[in-house]
Formats: sequence, structure tokens, C-alpha cells
Amino acid sequence: MTDPDQLRLLAVHAHPDDESSKGAATMAKYVAEGVRVLVATATGGERGSVLNPAMDRPEVWERLPQIRVEEMARAREILGVEQEFLGFVDSGLPEGDPMPPLPEGCFALLPVEEAAAPLVALIRRFRPQVMTTYDERGGYPHPDHIKTHEISVHAFEAAGDPDRYPELGEPWQVSKLYYHMSFTLPRTKALHEAILATGSESPYAEWLAKWDPAHDISHRVTTRVPCGEYFPVRDAALIAHATQIDPLGRWFACPVETQQQVWPTEDYELARSLVDTPTPEDDLFTGIRSEVTAR
Ligand SMILES: [Zn+2]
Repeated sequence: MTDPDQLRLLAVHAHPDDESSKGAATMAKYVAEGVRVLVATATGGERGSVLNPAMDRPEVWERLPQIRVEEMARAREILGVEQEFLGFVDSGLPEGDPMPPLPEGCFALLPVEEAAAPLVALIRRFRPQVMTTYDERGGYPHPDHIKTHEISVHAFEAAGDPDRYPELGEPWQVSKLYYHMSFTLPRTKALHEAILATGSESPYAEWLAKWDPAHDISHRVTTRVPCGEYFPVRDAALIAHATQIDPLGRWFACPVETQQQVWPTEDYELARSLVDTPTPEDDLFTGIRSEVTAR
């Protein structure tokens, strides 16, 4: 089913909406260039809350799982990507002290061997050269995000191995694996300062004050993909996730033009590579394009 000259990108995410907040402009850019982009969404986001006051209504809560599927469908169309659910159940974000146990059967509690299986099957069917996922801390400490990291690394390693999951299709080795590194201290500082310079109040002040520089990940960035032109597409996809994203909230506090001027890239760490590629890079397909077209 796959054309050997076709570039393919697989983005693995935990919940509907994560694809629109992490790497969305990168995906829109590659779609515009003719790359096939597939989003794998691990869970249905069933245990998410309603984070937009305008949507916090009983009729929304009643059918939240279905609404999240509909929101995902709209975001998928806006980004121009393909999308599939891996079929797991959202673990929810446990809150309290002590933390309550995770709900039985949820994604985060599954053994990684079992939880990675649908992703291995998807990789073997879609045959991406490049995969994106979260770093080992999930990028954000949600148990589903950490699990998404674990299944992505596991599937990256297993999908190309004929001895593993032999029932799940022909082996396929993905060439490069990236972690999202978008929310770094230097970027947040740069946006913060640019907002202050316009005389507006910065939504990032409190965040920055609490930010321990030891937890900054910016030194890990290997790859900055210029995609500022697609920030409006990213924002439209985010807004499609109406239950999760408050259009008056922090996501939109910094004007797009400011972001395009100050930080017009989405940033990544090249975590695994089977091709030669000099870093820093500005393209997730560096080292792959020539190989694909030379065939
Ligand atoms: Zn999430």
C-alpha cells in the first residue's frame, strides 16, 4: 500500500488535543509539502475534564467521549492529517494527597508489551520514516503521556524486528525518532519579553518565576523546524478541541505575529536515528529525503 517515494510521518499522542498543542504547525507544514502525516491517538480522552468555561454545561459532560471524537475529527481536517485511535482508555490526571490509584484497565496501567502492540501494527502498516513522541517525562507529568513515551520507544525498537510481534505484519524499521521540545525556558522567556515590550501583561510571569532552570530541556534540542507560517492552522486546530481549549486562555495569550517573529519554529530532540544526519537540523526528514528519492 505504500509508495517508496512517499515521505511519511507518524506522530504519537496520548489524547485528542495533544496533536494540536505539540507539533501541529510542523505537521501542517509537512502536509502542505506532500508528506503523509498520521496521528496515532492512544486514548479517547474520556477522563479529561472540561477546561473551557463556555463548554462547562451538563449536556457537554453527558456526552464528553463522543464530543472529543467529533472535536478530533474537526482538528484532523484542519491540520490535513490522517488520524487513528489506538483504542486505550484515558487514565485521567490523578489529583490529591495521597494520590488516588489509577482506574482499573486504564492505558497507563497496561504492561508496555501489550500497550505497544497496536502501535507496532500501525507502524508496520503505515511505514513511516519518522516518528514523533514525548520525552521520558511525558513532556508533562500525565501518566498517559509517560506511557505514550514508553510505547513509542518500545514500538520503534520492536516494529523492525521480525522476531517480535510476528503476528502483527511485515517488519518496518522507522529511521528517526523525535521527542517534542517545544515548551522550553528560552522560548517562554522570549515570548514573555516580547509581550512585555508591547506594554501588555504577560501570562507567563508566574510560570517563569516557578521554573527551575535545572528542569529546562532546551540543551537537548537538536532540530528546529521553521513553521511559523502554519501557527494560524495550529491555533484553528486547537480551537476545534472546544471542550479542552479556552479561546480566551493562555494558549492564545501571545499574538501569532509575535510568535512568528520571536520563535518561528517547533523544536525537537532527535532521540534515535538510523541515518546519518548532522545536527542541528531544521527538517525531520534530513538524511531520509535523498534516500527516498534516489530509489
Ligand atoms: Zn494529553
